[in-house]
Amino acid sequence: MDTRSKLQYFATLQKLLDLRRQARQQLEKLPDELLSLNQRYAERRRLLQAKEEELARLRQEQAGLEGELETLKREREHFRRQKSMVTNMRQLQAVVNELDQVEGEIKKREERLLAIWQQVEGLEEEVNNLSKESEEERLHREALEAAFAKQKQQVEKELERIEAHLRQTQRLLGTAGWEEFKKLWATRKPTAVVPMDGDSCSACHAQLRPSLVQLVKASAELAFCDSCRRLLYDRETIKPLELEA
Ligand SMILES: [Zn+2]
Repeated sequence: MDTRSKLQYFATLQKLLDLRRQARQQLEKLPDELLSLNQRYAERRRLLQAKEEELARLRQEQAGLEGELETLKREREHFRRQKSMVTNMRQLQAVVNELDQVEGEIKKREERLLAIWQQVEGLEEEVNNLSKESEEERLHREALEAAFAKQKQQVEKELERIEAHLRQTQRLLGTAGWEEFKKLWATRKPTAVVPMDGDSCSACHAQLRPSLVQLVKASAELAFCDSCRRLLYDRETIKPLELEA
């Protein structure tokens, strides 16, 4: 195989590998709008989780207080009965003191329970609103997902086409040429074969020696950029093969 054909196949492989990389990136990357929508949902889920945790904490406190309140009310009954059975002022004073204290404890808990009840009401409403996806939101999300799925399908088809062309080019190049390309690729990927840009390397932009420029233009032997060591070709004479439909 002459150098010119080899360069053409190498440039074709480079082009196909670029296209394959772009297609793969497209498959991995969610469209920006869907991404921002997902982020919004993620943010909402985090908020929802925090509120649900707060609700659970309040309900636990509520249950604890209700238990304490029951105990306190039983104590109050006990002291009320005692109050009706006292026989002297000292006993009465003692029972009244106990009763006052219990009443005070009951009041504290009842106030706290009322505050909790109000907080729970508010939180429940917030949780309810947060967990609901509106009809509009759902339609919007589904439309975006459908568009992305369709685009993905197209890219997957394109990827198959690129891979078929890669195999075809590999066959045309033959085993020796393919091995040579692989070696070149291993050390320079993802860009191993680049066109000259005037008298510069289009990859690293270094200006090339005039004799190297002549060498590249002649396409009689493989010529490499002195600074980045990539394989150079002249795009006036070497054209990567086109992908057929
Ligand atoms: Zn270079």
